[in-house]
Amino acid sequence: MTSNRIVIIGGGPAGLEAARGVSDLGFHATLIERREFLGGTPIAENYAALTHGFRDAEEAMNEIIADVTARPNVEVHLNSCVSKLDGAVGNFHVQMQNSAGAQMLDAAAIIVATGFQHFDPGRETQIYNYYEYPDVITLADMEAMLKAKQVVRRSNGALPERVCFVQCVGSRDRQIGNEFCSKVCCGIASKQAIEIKQAVPSAKVFIFYIDMRMYGYWENEIYWPAQEKYKVNYVKGIITEVLQKNGKLLVRGEDTTMGRPMEVTMDLVVLSVGMEPSEGTREMAQVLGLKQNKYGFIEVPHESLDPTLTTVPGILVAGSAAGPKDLDDTFSSAGLAAMRAVTAARKAMA
Ligand SMILES: Cc1cc2nc3c(=O)[nH]c(=O)nc-3n(C[C@H](O)[C@H](O)[C@H](O)COP(=O)(O)OP(=O)(O)OC[C@H]3O[C@@H](n4cnc5c(N)ncnc54)[C@H](O)[C@@H]3O)c2cc1C
Ligand code: SF4
Repeated sequence: MTSNRIVIIGGGPAGLEAARGVSDLGFHATLIERREFLGGTPIAENYAALTHGFRDAEEAMNEIIADVTARPNVEVHLNSCVSKLDGAVGNFHVQMQNSAGAQMLDAAAIIVATGFQHFDPGRETQIYNYYEYPDVITLADMEAMLKAKQVVRRSNGALPERVCFVQCVGSRDRQIGNEFCSKVCCGIASKQAIEIKQAVPSAKVFIFYIDMRMYGYWENEIYWPAQEKYKVNYVKGIITEVLQKNGKLLVRGEDTTMGRPMEVTMDLVVLSVGMEPSEGTREMAQVLGLKQNKYGFIEVPHESLDPTLTTVPGILVAGSAAGPKDLDDTFSSAGLAAMRAVTAARKAMA
């Protein structure tokens, strides 16, 4: 007999929204999260404020977590993972593994919401000296600084006078095989530039970019205020090297508008690292037999027609496990995945 259970793997924004959707549609959602807490990367990496509206990230995620966990038809398993899968749409048998051992769950459909991880800026090309210099940090490090209300130089605790962002670190880079655009980092760098100006109004903030890629909310509510109200300096340029000199950071590259070499000193350099598939996404693709695209994200064969269908009937994908996404796109895809999963279950029951 077909179960009315939908198994959702991953308890970040996508998994939580998928669980909410499945529950709203009257089916039973079993949410399996490998960490000991829900909320995904925004919680794990200590994000400070989320768009829209610069909402406190913990508060925003806790609101969704409270809604999801209060529902009688949602069951949450933390510190758990999926180790095996048998069966087919309408009648999957999912082996869940945790400290209590292995447990078999029958499920009509599965939603994979295993998310992303930040590109490691020390990988392969170490031109930015991330692991060498304490004042070279990533977007995620800056989120944690903003959350702690400590926008300071890590080397000496002083307030930074000059901060720059280096865009496209680990994205749009053929040399390392990541040709794709991570979609969110132009917007997030601009958001953080505003937050830095709010925290340290005397700081000069620069964004070195190849192209600024933003749309909708990010352009209207973040990019223009960053330029016009907060006087963030956007410089079209390519950074080729970050060195340490006299206690400062020497940033070298090319100003591509002026077509000339550029050398500037900074107190803090923020690397706008891209989004790559999480280890958990890669693992689940193997366990569930899902095809991955050339970057390791879950392959979505008919992306423009249905961004949630995978190569296995009855297994849907939501959020950044299928490729870089902001929260708007993550939530939209999660709602669609819930609807598709329930539809698959209903068809199997008919
Ligand atoms: C620095 C930074 C700041 C950002 N700020 C914003 C913002 O302000 N606004 C915005 O719109 N977007 C923002 N984003 C994007 C936002 O973080 C993503 O859109 C969102 O986190 C994607 O959610 P997700 O659920 O797909 O993935 P994740 O948040 O990565 O969640 C995935 C979850 O799955 C779990 N998991 C992984 N593998 C397994 C497994 N095998 N089994 C069980 N569980 C597993 C993980 O532990 C995690 O809980 C930001 C991104 C970055 C890099
Ligand atoms: S969003 Fe911007 S910084 Fe990120 S990869 Fe795309 S162009 Fe580069």
